[in-house]
Amino acid sequence: MTQPEVNDDLETLSAFRPDHSGRCEVCDQSPVVSATGLCGPCTWGEADTMNGAWWGEDDERRYQAALAKAEGRS
Ligand SMILES: [Zn+2]
Repeated sequence: MTQPEVNDDLETLSAFRPDHSGRCEVCDQSPVVSATGLCGPCTWGEADTMNGAWWGEDDERRYQAALAKAEGRS
């Protein structure tokens, strides 16, 4: 049985996942927020979001779980 919430969740998580291949359009920092193309501080104006700090191990676990479900590998 499919759960629409999972797809929404994956979409949200994907949007916030750090993109280590990108560089901030404003200050050239990496990683960037996938959805904005900007680093954490330029996205939120919070210095403590530097270096991908907005994304924790729990977020990565949730992302991987959502990805696996979306791909039907759960
Ligand atoms: Zn920046």
